[in-house]
Amino acid sequence: MKELISYDHNVLLVTLDSCRYDTFNGAVTPTMNRLGLVKPALTHGDYTLPAHVSIFNGQLPRVRGDLDLPPDDPQGVQLWRLSRARSVEGIVGLLLDGYTLQDGYRNRGFAVRGFGGTAYFWEDTDILRLPYKVGEFTHFAAREVGDKHGWEYPRLERTFPFFHVDEIAESVHDQENWFLFINAPETHWPYHSGVLENQELVELVKYSHQFRGGRTDPKNKFSYETGGHLLHELQRKALEYIDRRLEILLDKLPSDKPIVVVICGDHGEAFGEGGLWGHILSAPQVLNVPLIKNLSYRHQK
Ligand SMILES: [Zn+2]
Repeated sequence: MKELISYDHNVLLVTLDSCRYDTFNGAVTPTMNRLGLVKPALTHGDYTLPAHVSIFNGQLPRVRGDLDLPPDDPQGVQLWRLSRARSVEGIVGLLLDGYTLQDGYRNRGFAVRGFGGTAYFWEDTDILRLPYKVGEFTHFAAREVGDKHGWEYPRLERTFPFFHVDEIAESVHDQENWFLFINAPETHWPYHSGVLENQELVELVKYSHQFRGGRTDPKNKFSYETGGHLLHELQRKALEYIDRRLEILLDKLPSDKPIVVVICGDHGEAFGEGGLWGHILSAPQVLNVPLIKNLSYRHQK
């Protein structure tokens, strides 16, 4: 099996939690646009846990058209492949020897760091924390509040990872090589955009909590047209918030080596289309996610 890229790089992997593909439509995201084309991809999981298990196993959301690219096209090859996976002849981005991406990079001497996130990353014993050794992962909400599920609203800005770009950049500053992962819950309900919303929207966000997770609106008060589109717009503003903070983070990260940058939604979110809300359901709005890949990014300082 041939590898396309060498180990002389660092990694920034960001999952935009619950961010569906069309949230990018009309969103102002100059930082992400500079990184690469935002492609429509299909997730392997309709909620956080299975989606991240797949990603950590080297299976990013799949862009259908990329499968038809020439076998040596960097956009088409599998970026990360674990050597324990089924052996296939051909070309991959990088072959990693380990049970997860984190394991594989750690075995190569990379510093592994993680920041989050949604409740699946809350404690050392949560399943999505298992790829991390003690001290490698920081969960800001866990550190700040005792509300594992983020059900308090509005949430404090300092419980979100992209508020802490200094601390995140600092965590890799004196490292030779690093694999940095951020699970960004800003785009997850209750859609943190960095500004206080008007009271009407606050009430809608609070009310919508009870019919997430594929449940229906119990009072049948809202559809996409009568309320869902306002939540969708909040997710768009949360994406723009992340984009602004990402620019600052990229400026602070060491730039001595090219950075493999991958940004994707883990799954999407239904906002009332056909009476469906939230995720943990296999609806098109939940399965279609954005994917951006840049295999050798260097920040222009
Ligand atoms: Zn998620």
